Amino acid sequence: MAKKTTTFCTMCGAPNSKENPVVNIYEGLYMCTECIAFIDGKRDEALNKIKEEVKTEETQTLHAIPKPKEINDFLNQYVIGQEEAKKYLSVSVYNHYKRVMQPSNDEVDIEKSNVILVGPTGTGKTLLAKTIARLLDVPFTIVDATVLTEAGYVGEDVESLLTRLLQACDYDVEKAQRGIVFIDEIDKIARKSDNPSITRDVSGEGVQQGLLKLLEGSVVLVPPQGGRKHPDQKMIPVDTKNILFICGGAFDGIERKIAARLNTQVVGYGHDAIKKKHQRENLMRYVMPQDLKSYGLIPEIIGRLPILTSLDPLDKSALRRILVEPKNAIIRQYKKMFELDGVKLEFTDDALDLIVEKAVEYKLGARGLRSIVETIMIDAMYDVPSQEIDAFKVDRDYVSNQLIKANFEKTALSD
Ligand code: ADP
Repeated sequence: MAKKTTTFCTMCGAPNSKENPVVNIYEGLYMCTECIAFIDGKRDEALNKIKEEVKTEETQTLHAIPKPKEINDFLNQYVIGQEEAKKYLSVSVYNHYKRVMQPSNDEVDIEKSNVILVGPTGTGKTLLAKTIARLLDVPFTIVDATVLTEAGYVGEDVESLLTRLLQACDYDVEKAQRGIVFIDEIDKIARKSDNPSITRDVSGEGVQQGLLKLLEGSVVLVPPQGGRKHPDQKMIPVDTKNILFICGGAFDGIERKIAARLNTQVVGYGHDAIKKKHQRENLMRYVMPQDLKSYGLIPEIIGRLPILTSLDPLDKSALRRILVEPKNAIIRQYKKMFELDGVKLEFTDDALDLIVEKAVEYKLGARGLRSIVETIMIDAMYDVPSQEIDAFKVDRDYVSNQLIKANFEKTALSD
């Protein structure tokens, strides 16, 4: 009978025994139970260390995210006024990225904080969203809700708005999944009538239904070239869980719904005084989710846009500030352009006042400021580079003459 050979632990050399059995782990590799326990302990230690490191990395990344106050300060450099909207947006963006960094095994699941901005056109909704994206250095895209239609109808599928986000970051899906999408004119996809079904509402309620899954967060198949999906196309799966959606809309006429709600709620003594006060103030400030519902957004969409805030109309003093204060204010841009030609450009205060007066007179808002300044400056931009001068002054008379010369009044009114 062959003699039974003793096996030894490859690691510590201990012989096989009842108390410390040696087992064959792999071809030619034997290990005693003590060594196995030792290695198990070391492995757990190493894994825990890695987990800790990942955790600190995550908290450090959270530290890298600007605090709401810092976000607000940054917005202040570019956006004039709109304090409430800035505050809401700063908090929701901060919370959004807190949520993105949350470990997946956390018991408390922070919900998505998509935003809806309600306010007249040209008051800074797009600018706010754009500025946030610039601060965070994440992919950003602006899409117009009016081009979207329910799947199967003429127009673009809702998924195509993610195509634009992918295009904004060279199809880097990981990056896109942390980006920001600004959906403009969300009010234009309001339900067309209260009667749900005489004809199908393919660009209204149909699109709202389509948007639901994107807003709440799910994996959607995105056509790489956008437009309408077709069967042989290779789709890119994109998870919208961590994409922040900011919607904007003018909601023309929503004041009536707000007024109706406020007045019905006010009862008894003092009713008239409060009513008058509401009429005087900007009613948009009191917008509530139920007003959006009366306007024609479906409750499911409203539920997925939990942060609702409004923007104020821009008055004269706001427009005056917009002209000169933001980091990239129009006047600053013109000064820079002249400076590059070695010319110091100066605007007198009353010249700036007149520009603002014209923007208000022709109801052009902030967007109009640029076209007015362009009209005023075109001759100087043409002539000055070839002149031997080192300063150019724009006063009220110059503004007024240039506008008359360019027939601005006619052009502005025919817009
Ligand atoms: P909206 O999206 O509300 O229709 P935008 O954000 O596109 O309006 O504003 C149009 C332009 O007007 C901006 O690019 C910016 O130059 C100017 N503007 C509007 N509102 C503001 C503001 N509050 N502060 C600074 N600039 C503004």
